[in-house]
Formats: sequence, structure tokens, C-alpha cells
Amino acid sequence: MDKYRVKPGKKIALRDFDPNDRGDMQGEKDKGIEKLAKLRLELNQLQELLYAEHKHKLLIVLQAMDTAGKDGTIRSVFEGVNPQGVRVANFKAPTVPELDHDYLWRVHAQVPGKGEITIFNRSQYEDVLVVRVHNLVPETVWKKRYQHINAFERMLADESTTILKFYLNIDAEEQKQRFLERLNTPEKNWKFNPSDLSERKLWPQYIQAYEDALNETSTDWAPWYVVPANHNWYRNLVVVSVIVGTLKGLKMSFPKPDEDLAQYRKALESE
Ligand code: ATP
Ligand code: MG
Repeated sequence: MDKYRVKPGKKIALRDFDPNDRGDMQGEKDKGIEKLAKLRLELNQLQELLYAEHKHKLLIVLQAMDTAGKDGTIRSVFEGVNPQGVRVANFKAPTVPELDHDYLWRVHAQVPGKGEITIFNRSQYEDVLVVRVHNLVPETVWKKRYQHINAFERMLADESTTILKFYLNIDAEEQKQRFLERLNTPEKNWKFNPSDLSERKLWPQYIQAYEDALNETSTDWAPWYVVPANHNWYRNLVVVSVIVGTLKGLKMSFPKPDEDLAQYRKALESE
């Protein structure tokens, strides 16, 4: 999965990442789905361990163009986890009180605590994406934000937060098909918002903004992954693989009891 990671200091161009890529699983969707199910079980166990150990914090950031599947990724990857330890934070257009504060104010309030996994469905990155594309603040203001975000994420990492950031990469043609499906399927009509089409017209501007964000803010402590997302199953597989691999690397263990439990076992057995 390392080939999807944006290496710090190396400039990437999104046109070099194929949204149709299926790695070494091309033509092997069934096998891919089996693998996905296995990894999901592993994730469930690792999440329990993370919760029990109560030491690490995991922050997952999902960013993407409309229809790329942020919701679907969350549903698939986290299926079966204990909802007690996992939370989704959605970042929509800021409210008036949110706009009265700095842009990281609402974000910091949602970061995970010890033992928790928090998934950001959109994030602080909107403040260098939609905000830039729509000129909601001048360039002199948003340009400084990459540095703020890197420092903010560094602070979180220093305070035992593991951060993984995923850009779900679809192409414009795939988005068109997905919008058409939303329009043609009554059960999916609710997902369609006419303003999505005006955003679609800004596709090149968004790609430029994403490219800059990925290049400026992929760090050792909070790496970005460009996830091929034209195929939902492969998208989910990449995301779960990265999360499982990262959690394994934390070398977590269940807390040991402070005292010898034999006496309690004996007491119960002799009841
Ligand atoms: P999504 O599009 O994430 O699947 P949705 O369609 O249910 O969710 P929307 O009403 O589209 O919800 O909410 C997300 C919108 O909020 C997006 O257009 C996004 O760009 C915008 N947004 C998020 N953060 C900001 C921000 N900081 N400033 C301006 N707009 C923002
Ligand atoms: Mg939307």
C-alpha cells in the first residue's frame, strides 16, 4: 500500500494516479472482497485492543470529490466495530459561531481521545479546498494554513494520535456516471443536490487545490494516501489495509491486571 502514500518532500501530480488501479487484484474482485472481509475482522479485533489499552488515539481523515464514496468507505471499513469506541465527525459548511472562531476550533473539538477512533468526513482540509476554490478568504490567508495544519497535526501526533489521511480518487467520468445513477434511482434521488453540478464545473480548480494540499501536508506524522476509488471494493480494501497495517505497527497489548487474579478465581470456584 506504500505506493499510494504521498512521500513527504516529493511532489506528486494527481494525473499520475490511476483511479481505476486495482493493484495486483485486477480481474480478481471476488478474491478482493474476501480479503476485505478478513481485514475487516482484523480491524474489529485491533479496535477492541486500542479501546482496551486506552493509550493511542486514531484519527482518520477522508477527503474526496462528491460521489467518491466517503460515506460508503466508512460503512464498509467499519462494519462490525464496537460503536462505543468509534465516532464519525462530519464537517459541513461552518455555522455562524464556527465562522466567528479560527478554522481549527471546531476541528480540535472533535479529535479522538485515548482508545478512540475518530473518522473525519471532510476536515480542516476544506479550509484550503472549497475555501480556496470559492475565494472565501484571500490567498494570503489560506496559503498560511498548510503550515498551521502541519503544526496542528504534529501536536496531535506528539500527544499519541496516529493520523491517516485518505484522498479518494475518482475521475470526472466516473463522477458523471454516479450522479446519473443518483438521478435515475428513486432511492438515491435524496443524495442529489443541484449545487453538486456547479461544483463539478470547478473540477480542475479542485484538482489543483487537492494536489497542493497533498504536497504541502503529507508528513511522516500524518501521511496522505491517494486511494484509487473508481472501484468501490478496491477503495475499501486499500483503506482497511492501511489502517490495519498501521494499527499492527503500534504493538498494542491488553492491559495486565495489577494483581494476581488466582485468588478471585478460587473464590468463585469455591462458591
Ligand atoms: P458530503 O458532500 O460530504 O457527502 P452532504 O452532501 O450530506 O455531504 P453537504 O451539504 O454537501 O453535505 O456538506 C458538505 C459541504 O460543506 C461541502 O460542499 C463542503 O465543501 C462544505 N464545507 C465543509 N467545510 C467547509 C468550510 N470550512 N468552508 C466552507 N464550506 C465547507
Ligand atoms: Mg455533498
